Amino acid sequence: MTEGFRERLGAVNERIKAACERAGRDPSEVKLVAVSKTHPAETVREAVEAGIFIFGENKVQEGLGKIEEVGDSKCEWHLIGHLQSNKAKKALKSFDVIQTVDSIKIAERLDRIAGEESIEDFPVFIQVDLGKEATKSGVYEEELDELVDTVLKCPNLRFEGLMTIPPYLPDPDDVRPYFRRLRGLRDNLKNEGAFGDARGELSMGMSHDFEAAIEEGATIVRVGTAIFGPRR
Ligand SMILES: *Cc1c(COP(=O)(O)O)cnc(C)c1O
Repeated sequence: MTEGFRERLGAVNERIKAACERAGRDPSEVKLVAVSKTHPAETVREAVEAGIFIFGENKVQEGLGKIEEVGDSKCEWHLIGHLQSNKAKKALKSFDVIQTVDSIKIAERLDRIAGEESIEDFPVFIQVDLGKEATKSGVYEEELDELVDTVLKCPNLRFEGLMTIPPYLPDPDDVRPYFRRLRGLRDNLKNEGAFGDARGELSMGMSHDFEAAIEEGATIVRVGTAIFGPRR
């Protein structure tokens, strides 16, 4: 385990609490996804001992190996990286949540395979590319409604929320407009009933900007470096 892991985790939890207080929110509303990409299964096991059960991986293949190696059914694994269609089956069978649905094609494929594999109600998020950066995946805002309609028509998928990776800006305050936009999109979808009785998750905020994200309404923050230290 990387040096100082428990201290870092404690500090992240404190920062989450403080951000919730500033925003008048209950910390239990914010889920921490520990992003374990590039870190070995052993690190994940130690994190579990420290009370972390939700992990994020950005590559299907790396995730698969680790999920198997960790072999702990208490853990919940989120795919947070782009999903290629040829990995859809593997992703469905090993991950618990896919946060990165970004096309009609991948949604329909996931739904079809889930049906074949008797997987019901599989939780998915739609990734939105708010900054329209060439390096980021995600659906553009203009295409969101059509993709939502598709996902809602997929009997084996459960639409749980929106996810975004905003452009990197050194000052987290400058990222707030992106967080607000994602929240606005979520609010509209919620008003239209897209999430049923559920709150509609907002997965936004990483190590350098999760506090701003929480203040803007994040229900899930994805934190790697601030918990595990620099990636290998
Ligand atoms: C790597 C990654 C994170 C975590 O990034 P840190 O800056 O290390 O906290 C969060 N979300 C996604 C999609 C990632 O790929």
